[in-house]
Amino acid sequence: MKIILFGPPGAGKGTQAKKIVDHYNIPHLSTGNIFRYNIKNETELGKKVKSIMDAGKLVPDETVVELVVDELQNDKYDNGYILDGFPRTVPQAKALDQFLAENSTSIDTFITLTVPEEELVQRILSRGEGRSDDTPEKVRTRLEVYRNETEPVLNYYKEKGMVTEVDGVGTIDEIFERIKEVLDKI
Ligand code: ADP
Repeated sequence: MKIILFGPPGAGKGTQAKKIVDHYNIPHLSTGNIFRYNIKNETELGKKVKSIMDAGKLVPDETVVELVVDELQNDKYDNGYILDGFPRTVPQAKALDQFLAENSTSIDTFITLTVPEEELVQRILSRGEGRSDDTPEKVRTRLEVYRNETEPVLNYYKEKGMVTEVDGVGTIDEIFERIKEVLDKI
């Protein structure tokens, strides 16, 4: 099962991805987590992306695509995966399509979590994870970047008829039940 989990910052992608991992036993590939890990460990990649992430901007497509394509070569992804935080721009979506075509495979479903913008801001500011990009100003930037650069990705997949919208408001378990309904059909 190959899934794209999509939605604005604060929509709960990471939380739901963890539940999908446990229930369906497929690995989670979060570009945000990989970048944070590299920043923490002060790798070359971490040094390259730190200031960009701290500002709430997007890491250049080339860097992200190289990272994802490289990561997906790992055997652990052979039976499926959840992509979280990728693709985040239309060029990234096109690069993913090319990679999938080269490997004679495809994405089974694209789930987008819908949450009203006021709730997104509240959730991020109250989650207290201590992320350096979780300040009011950075959150505003991230939402703006989402609207300008990431939302077009939704239309890209809508045109392919692949999108299922899931209401992202409710308890964690309620939302997961909605996701399971979608995934149990594929
Ligand atoms: P959120 O969904 O809350 O914004 P993420 O962990 O997905 O959190 O991403 C955090 C940051 O990591 C982004 O603001 C961006 O700087 C960087 N990032 C993650 N994924 C991508 C991507 N696919 N393309 C560009 N930048 C990315």
